[in-house]
Amino acid sequence: MEFRRQPPTPGTDSAAGGPTGSSCSARGLSGSAFEMTAHLTVWEDVLHNEQLIPEVAAIAVDAALLEGVLMRTKEEPSSSNVVNYAPFTLLPSVVPSTIFEQAYAVQQDFNLLVDTISQNAEFLERTLASTIKVDDFTAHLFKIYKQVLKEGFAQSVFLGINRSDYMIDHGADGTPALKQIEINTIAASFGGLTSRTTAVHRHILNVLGKSKEALKLLDNNPCKGIALGIAKAWELYGSARAVVMVLVADTQRNIFDQRCVENELWTRNIRVIRRQFEDVFEKASLDNDRRLYMEGQEVAVVYYREGYMPENYNKQNWEARLLIERSKAVKCPDIATQLAGTKKVQQELSQPGVVERLLPSQAEAVARIRATFTGLYSLDMDEEGAKVVAMAIADPERYVLKPQREGGGNNLYGEELKQLLEKIKDSPERASYILMDKITPRTSMNYLLRAHSPLKISECVSELGVFGVYVRQGKDIVVNKHVGHLLRTKAIEHADGGVAAGVAVLDTPYVI
Ligand code: ADP
Ligand code: MG
Repeated sequence: MEFRRQPPTPGTDSAAGGPTGSSCSARGLSGSAFEMTAHLTVWEDVLHNEQLIPEVAAIAVDAALLEGVLMRTKEEPSSSNVVNYAPFTLLPSVVPSTIFEQAYAVQQDFNLLVDTISQNAEFLERTLASTIKVDDFTAHLFKIYKQVLKEGFAQSVFLGINRSDYMIDHGADGTPALKQIEINTIAASFGGLTSRTTAVHRHILNVLGKSKEALKLLDNNPCKGIALGIAKAWELYGSARAVVMVLVADTQRNIFDQRCVENELWTRNIRVIRRQFEDVFEKASLDNDRRLYMEGQEVAVVYYREGYMPENYNKQNWEARLLIERSKAVKCPDIATQLAGTKKVQQELSQPGVVERLLPSQAEAVARIRATFTGLYSLDMDEEGAKVVAMAIADPERYVLKPQREGGGNNLYGEELKQLLEKIKDSPERASYILMDKITPRTSMNYLLRAHSPLKISECVSELGVFGVYVRQGKDIVVNKHVGHLLRTKAIEHADGGVAAGVAVLDTPYVI
């Protein structure tokens, strides 16, 4: 998700020596066609050219700055006086076309599924029952949800902007399989910057004399799709004077990603304001119709780019969140949709019959969704949960242990996973986690360009995300779209962590 305060614990910084390119790129060159292409053999001719790479990297960095692939600095996160390029790969990474198309083809199904869950109070209550007993953050969200449910929703227009993230697993036989990591239903970020990254990679390929390959990079503009979704929700809200309020954190390193969306709205004559929970607490109010007013301006849409982790809240911020949720404004997402994106819900969906019951008479959509699931396991305080704990302790390298958190760097792997489970195996606390099969994508070689970091080749894995946007008015879905993609790549030393955390970097899929 959007942001994480501390760097994740596992792994070392990219300055640490990694394996050399030649030893890794030689692996996996036998077997299926995918094995042949999944490695960066497509760029092999330039990858180890010690003279060329630094020269092209310098050109690449300037291209990123020119295209606006930007971030504020760690040192000055609240000022645009000094900014830098957002980290990105020197070269695009290979994604097989079948996998890429599959990820797009299932996105509208996921939009529908999330929207359906958000309207199913019984499902949310049952699924999250064990979690909210032990996880305070989810419990707090759930409490607000129940309050709003009791009072009745003032809101009649609903807007979802999500990003479903995947890794490409490869089975023992080498066949690639698209497997979902998670779906982000709140503050799904990098739709702005990724819309500008393709041009950078096209330029790099042109400079490398690979103009044919440059032409193959697909156009990608999730930023526009996201803005159009917000614009539609704003229009259906039906007040020309009303504004869109982007709810932001106090540290705003990723402001340019947000500005991309904001600027798209301004060009459509939709006014945008940026505020924090603190401002809402101090200056927002509801009128008798539960219209939300911020400093006297009516708010049509609240677009959260904050509010997805415990650190975002104090007592006042929770009150501000409740006020917004009670209002008639279109929330993106509303609290139910945020809950629909929890890892516990994801785990429950993988149980036999669950997606089938949620989307009855939609067998094809269900099949497309199910095909992306990997093994997910409940750690509830029952016999099944106890078996799962034993299974994970016996073979910790096969799994990922996930708490109900967003933002990267919260998951546990290997020895850490084992130690924690041994500690909490008989405590109800274990139900605040879910267990997931670890996905092992093929690696590729690339250069991760990051300000103030040495230029060196890294063995990497990539994560593909597809953005989905939907708008519902009452019971009618009026927009349901996939609007673009995001490819993020990280060195294999890091098990976890996103772009803002300084682990993953922006990439562009080279679809073949
Ligand atoms: P968050 O909400 O914190 O982003 P994720 O579920 O996306 O949580 O996990 C964070 C990162 O951990 C992912 O970006 C991915 O790199 C890694 N990860 C998560 N689940 C798995 C998995 N099942 N197999 C391999 N890596 C995983
Ligand atoms: Mg994630």
